[in-house]
This record gives sequence, structure tokens and C-alpha cells, in this order.
Amino acid sequence: MKYDKYRVDPKKKIEIKDFDPNESSLFEGKKSEARDLLRELNGEIEALQEQLYAEGKHRVLVIIQAMDTGGKDGTIRAVFEGVNPQGVRVASFKVPTPIEMAHDYLWRIHQQTPGKGEIVIFNRSQYEDVLVVRVHGLVPKAVWSKRYEQINAFEKLLADEGTTILKFYLNIDLDEQAARFLARVEDPTKTWKFNPGDLEERKLWAQYMEAYEDMLNKTSTEQAPWYVIPANKKWYRNIVIATILRDTLKGLKMGYPAPPADLETYRRLLRGMVSPEVLDEVHDDIRDDHKKEGLLKPKGAEAELEAYLAMRRADEA
Ligand code: AMP
Ligand code: MG
Repeated sequence: MKYDKYRVDPKKKIEIKDFDPNESSLFEGKKSEARDLLRELNGEIEALQEQLYAEGKHRVLVIIQAMDTGGKDGTIRAVFEGVNPQGVRVASFKVPTPIEMAHDYLWRIHQQTPGKGEIVIFNRSQYEDVLVVRVHGLVPKAVWSKRYEQINAFEKLLADEGTTILKFYLNIDLDEQAARFLARVEDPTKTWKFNPGDLEERKLWAQYMEAYEDMLNKTSTEQAPWYVIPANKKWYRNIVIATILRDTLKGLKMGYPAPPADLETYRRLLRGMVSPEVLDEVHDDIRDDHKKEGLLKPKGAEAELEAYLAMRRADEA
């Protein structure tokens, strides 16, 4: 999937209007096929996250920003489905509390950044301090205008210290937002999500787009790039983000930590403790796990594992 066209090149100036929120050009198949692809990606992300956790070396930060109804919650749910909650954390940033307000705006952010072996997802982020804060003039321009550089410096610090950063702007348009608000008031299970105040924010759409555009142009860097994700179609948004995340995790070239010395001795010892049926069950479970997580290519690898197990059985006999 050639998703580089969604990446904001740090050396170029972009305009949001040049990114079509409606397109789904990198996926030719049907919607149901996209769902299958997402399942596959979920499995791969699950396996990669487990390696990240096992290795305890890398830190990964995923930042998600969008207008109201843009799909932040839905993206997190869909992309991280099946991932072990141990080792993945979501940090949501709301209107700052009095204690947060008493500090600089990055204070609450830095506390939530990922530790080693951890993936943290920011649902809103430090970028609110150049978005809602700018649009509503919550601090003077002289203050918010310095923040782009400050955020870049902050993210450089994180990256220099070994954090991999991905930033996604979920790009929807005004019509899609109206439809999504409508869905919230029509669906009794979603009304709780409807906040009448959001309709006031909607009136400031143009100002928000200006703020988003500045943010994308000023804070997309080599070490922490922005992606503008077409997000009117939820299924497309999900597979694009899941693919970028999968590829990024793969790029970390992780491995499982080395097993203890004398593993073979322990293997023989433990095999001696169980019946042949239990041994078969254990092997079946391993095979199922690997298949689910896409660690083994279904056909060839299946045969490979069979051969390996047969060899082990012969070895034992
Ligand atoms: P929600 O994500 O719908 O729960 O809403 C959270 C609200 O908190 C949004 O309206 C954000 O704009 C607002 N918010 C988040 N960070 C800040 C901030 N630093 N200053 C002011 N408002 C913020
Ligand atoms: Mg809201």
C-alpha cells in the first residue's frame, strides 16, 4: 500500500483542501475484503506488539487528532482490536484540570509518554494547545505561536531517546460531520456522545482548518511525521492506519529475547512430564496462535511446521 502520499513532507507546504476525505484509492477490493484485511493486520499488530513488550527496548507513540466525530475512538477500537491490553495504553486529553493549568502545557503530556516496551495512543494531545486554544484565543498569539517549535523540540527529545512517533490527522469534511452528528441523535445507544456544544464548534470549522493546516505544515518532521488520513470512509481509514502502524512496528526489526541456555534439556524434561496427547495439544495450540497472528504463512509454513514436528517425534521415538 503506497500510503506515502498521505504523509506530510516536512520540506513541502500542503493545503488541507488538496486531500480528499472521501477517497479510498489504495484499496481496490470490496468493503468486506477490507474487513478481512483489517483482521489480518490486527493479528500482525498483535504479534508485533507482543514482541515489542517481550523485548522491552522500543517505545511507540501514536497521536490521533481530528475534529469532533472525526473517528478518534473508532480508530483506536478498530486498529488495536485483539491487541493485549498489557503493554498498550490510551491517554485522552480533555480540558486541562486546575493542576494541569498551573503547569506548562507539555507537563501533562510528558507524564503519559510510552515507557520501554510500551505503545501509547494519544486521543487528542499537545496539539490541542495550537488548535482549540488558538481558535478560541485561550492564550495570546504571542504564546501559542511559539508552541510549534516547542512541540518539535519536545518530540525530537522523545525521538532521540528512542521513541517512535506516528501522527494521524483524521480528515473528514463538514457534510460527513453533519451525518455523524445526526447518527448520534438518531441512535439511542449513541445519544450519550452528543454534546450540543459541539455544534457551536462546528461553526468555527474554517478557523479550525486554518489551525490544522498550520499544525501540519509546522510540525511534520522526519522523526515525527503527520499523515492526513482520508476518514469519511471508516473502513478505509482503519486499514490505512493499521497498515502504517504494522509497517512501522515491522521496521523496528525486533526479535524475541534469547531463550535460556540449555533449552533442549528443559524441553526434554517437560516433555517427560506430560502424555503424548498433551504434547499434541500444546503443538496444536501453538500452530493456531501462529496462524491467527499471521506469523506463519498458512500453506507452506503449515507444511514446514508439520515436518518439524514429525522430525521431533521421530527423534523422540
Ligand atoms: P472529548 O474528546 O469530546 O471528550 O472532548 C474533550 C475536549 O477537551 C475537547 O473539546 C477539546 O478541545 C478539549 N481540550 C483538550 N485539550 C485542551 C486544551 N489543552 N485546552 C483546552 N481545551 C482542551
Ligand atoms: Mg467532544
